Amino acid sequence: MSIEPLGIHHVTAIATDPQRNVDFYYATLGLRLVKRTVNFDAPDTYHLYYGDEAGRPGTLLTFFPWPGTPQGRHGTGQATVTSFSVPGSSLGWWKQRLERLGVDVTEATTRFEEDALSLHDPDGLVIELVAHDDASDGVPWPDGPVPAEHQIRGLHGVTLCEAGYEATAELLVDRLGFRLVAEADNRYRFDTAAGGPGARVDVVCQPEAPRGMVAAGTVHHVAWRAPDVDTEAGWRGELVGSGLDVTPIIDRQYFESIYFREPGGVLLEIATDPPGFTKDEPLLELGKALKLPPWLEPQRELIQRALPELKLPDADRWAERGPGA
Ligand code: ZN
Repeated sequence: MSIEPLGIHHVTAIATDPQRNVDFYYATLGLRLVKRTVNFDAPDTYHLYYGDEAGRPGTLLTFFPWPGTPQGRHGTGQATVTSFSVPGSSLGWWKQRLERLGVDVTEATTRFEEDALSLHDPDGLVIELVAHDDASDGVPWPDGPVPAEHQIRGLHGVTLCEAGYEATAELLVDRLGFRLVAEADNRYRFDTAAGGPGARVDVVCQPEAPRGMVAAGTVHHVAWRAPDVDTEAGWRGELVGSGLDVTPIIDRQYFESIYFREPGGVLLEIATDPPGFTKDEPLLELGKALKLPPWLEPQRELIQRALPELKLPDADRWAERGPGA
């Protein structure tokens, strides 16, 4: 069995204030909060999932918001940029929107013939919006604050910052089924499966950069898609056989996961497409209530008491942001 992830499944990052996180990703970037749960390994902390209408794999950015956690440092051994795809003609609209909402956003830059805007979230996480005519996979969320024609369509790619390039490239190509599709200066672009938006990773070789420190405003890990758990188990066997230190398959309630580190230090995950976010609530209700996995349900009262209150931005608050906001 050869390993070939279908694309990015999700990116998980660290934030501080959960309300500020929801306000930014939901009300400003217009992603849907598709699941409000807790960090299964530390249930006194939220785990917030944002994505398209249904939270399809490939559209998901998730956060552990830890109030008071120190600021991380961007650097090597880290995923330093998370890129989303937006429709090809939407970049100007997004720049105006973000500037009006007080988000510090750069002029559009062009890389590998793709135009992109770069911005920071309130904790300093670097987000890119990349214009792409094929950015059509994610299904727009009709009740969102961003008009459907401009909505973020899903993840475009991630950028890994590395002190060295060869060992990471070797893992991606020889063991994870990626192929080198472009390179320029110190940037190497790899695609998996069909390639294109949602199925790419850029490795940037920056030996002079400081070592990254994972804390607030940084990516915790990047997950790649497996079609089902049997395939994932086969891939796990192959990775273990090649000498990689891989966790057992872990039940994450909405997908099943394995984790390992690439040689540069970035934590990677492989996560299954099924069962998805409608496993424990209907599509229309996604993200509205705190959901717990069965093994934490007996502690619900205790868990809920420890979590800060979280309010979804409402339509009245969007209206205050002016027309088109
Ligand atoms: Zn994950």
